[in-house]
Amino acid sequence: MLSNYHTHSNYCDGKASLREMVDFAVAHGFEELGFSGHSPLPYLNTFSIKTDKYAAYCNEVRALKAEYADRMKIHLGLEIDYVPGLCEDFRPLIETGGLEYTIGSVHLIPQPESIGYIRSHPTEAADYLWMIDGAKYERYDEGLQRLFGGNIRRGVRAFFEQNNRMIESQRPTIVGHFDKIVMNNKDRYFHYDEKWFLDLVYETVQLIHETGCICEVNTRGIYKGRHYDFYPARQTLRHMNTLGIPVIVSTDAHLPEDLLHTEGAYEFLEEIGYRNVLFRLT
Ligand SMILES: [Zn+2]
Ligand SMILES: [Zn+2]
Repeated sequence: MLSNYHTHSNYCDGKASLREMVDFAVAHGFEELGFSGHSPLPYLNTFSIKTDKYAAYCNEVRALKAEYADRMKIHLGLEIDYVPGLCEDFRPLIETGGLEYTIGSVHLIPQPESIGYIRSHPTEAADYLWMIDGAKYERYDEGLQRLFGGNIRRGVRAFFEQNNRMIESQRPTIVGHFDKIVMNNKDRYFHYDEKWFLDLVYETVQLIHETGCICEVNTRGIYKGRHYDFYPARQTLRHMNTLGIPVIVSTDAHLPEDLLHTEGAYEFLEEIGYRNVLFRLT
């Protein structure tokens, strides 16, 4: 069956309306479609839902859910950015929005010493964050230099520690792309199978296992030509299978046609005998 729970729209940085995403999914026989716009953040940025548009986003997804109930199941979710000092508690967003599920993701890393300042000056946060996502690796390099003096191990450790705190304290329904820090590394500063890096990956995997969260298998890096592996990587998925961690394939769609880009994820999971693949959340 076809499903996708990691779906953006033009309420955030997606390039199509909610309805255009829905119509494409229905036309291609999807049974489940979950929307997961980028959560509002209290500083000016180009990718998240604006705070004053959050209610409209939730209401529009709910209206589509009712309108299309006989053709496809639509779910109201949110990809919530966990950022110390800016967004550490998912509950207000869950409660005010009436969310059915959450994807917890880390895209923005503050330098640990700046968290207090960010907390008291949230509108200035952009200057104190390392943006690890996005198409430009130069921006990744600049942030690493500015916040961590170019020390990749410190920066990467901060990324995983932030993911770990999120998983432990917020227990998102789905853990989003928890090793995406490798994308803009482009095998320059380190390689995935270096011991210090794998130790960090395995520590996060262990936490996912202990908390019972679902983990996504995110295919976006591959079809955007930005990376050669899923998030998490194939080798990590093999390890996760030994622990029985439930996974769900996500295209992280920003355009209707992205919804079809599963990039061999189901085939790979089948090939390695992955035991716990989910197609729907409930
Ligand atoms: Zn994301
Ligand atoms: Zn996303």
